[in-house]
Amino acid sequence: CGIIGYIGDRPACEVIVKGLKRLEYRGYDSAGIVTEDGGRLYIRKGAGRIDDLTEKLGFLEMPGKRGIGHTRWATHGIPNDINAHPQTDCTGRIALVHNGIIENYRELREELLRRGHHFDSDTDTEVIAHLIEEELKSSGSFEEAMRRALLRLKGSFALGIVYTGEPDRLYFVRNESPLVLGIGDGENFAASDVPAFLEYTNRVVFLDDREYAIITRNSWTVKSLDSGKIVEKTVQEVEWT
Ligand code: GLU
Repeated sequence: CGIIGYIGDRPACEVIVKGLKRLEYRGYDSAGIVTEDGGRLYIRKGAGRIDDLTEKLGFLEMPGKRGIGHTRWATHGIPNDINAHPQTDCTGRIALVHNGIIENYRELREELLRRGHHFDSDTDTEVIAHLIEEELKSSGSFEEAMRRALLRLKGSFALGIVYTGEPDRLYFVRNESPLVLGIGDGENFAASDVPAFLEYTNRVVFLDDREYAIITRNSWTVKSLDSGKIVEKTVQEVEWT
């Protein structure tokens, strides 16, 4: 299972499909992509192999210059098209992908159902999108809502998150599941593993547990999930081959 995210000037779908191919060795049963263009999210996903899905769903025709791809290894909910990631909130403005397991998702789901949320999938992942949506109602910024929601999660998670209300950025979060940033020139990447973007850049920043990153085309910032404060990170250069 794996995650690949891109923001820059290239068609995001091309970078993402290549990245997903390079993450195939990690194993998966489903795959999906979200891209954003003109304030709208485009989501295509399903059970099956990357090559088949690319052809069947037209992954390479998805518009936009920012996006996130995912390969799923099902833990909660059978491998099918609906349970494939990205998962979304009720408003359809938040889309996210997840590797790992949310241990307290049942309690969170019950609580969210009581608050009027409806769920499309059987995944543990979907509660995260709804939890952020719920926090967004009472918080000044998406980042703060996201952080407050994530502080309620127990378990392991590598996450990639896109929000239509913020056209210039992507969020990536790590807790007990790997995530690394790829630092480019006018473009940035994030992935479960360096080979997913090594074709484009060998400058990397490894996230540690309970850290999240905000990437734009021209900037990257890493913060602590617990304090919300900036964490100083160093850029490392990895071998091209
Ligand atoms: N627990 C999530 C699910 O079953 C993510 C699985 C994964 O790591 O790919 O949908």
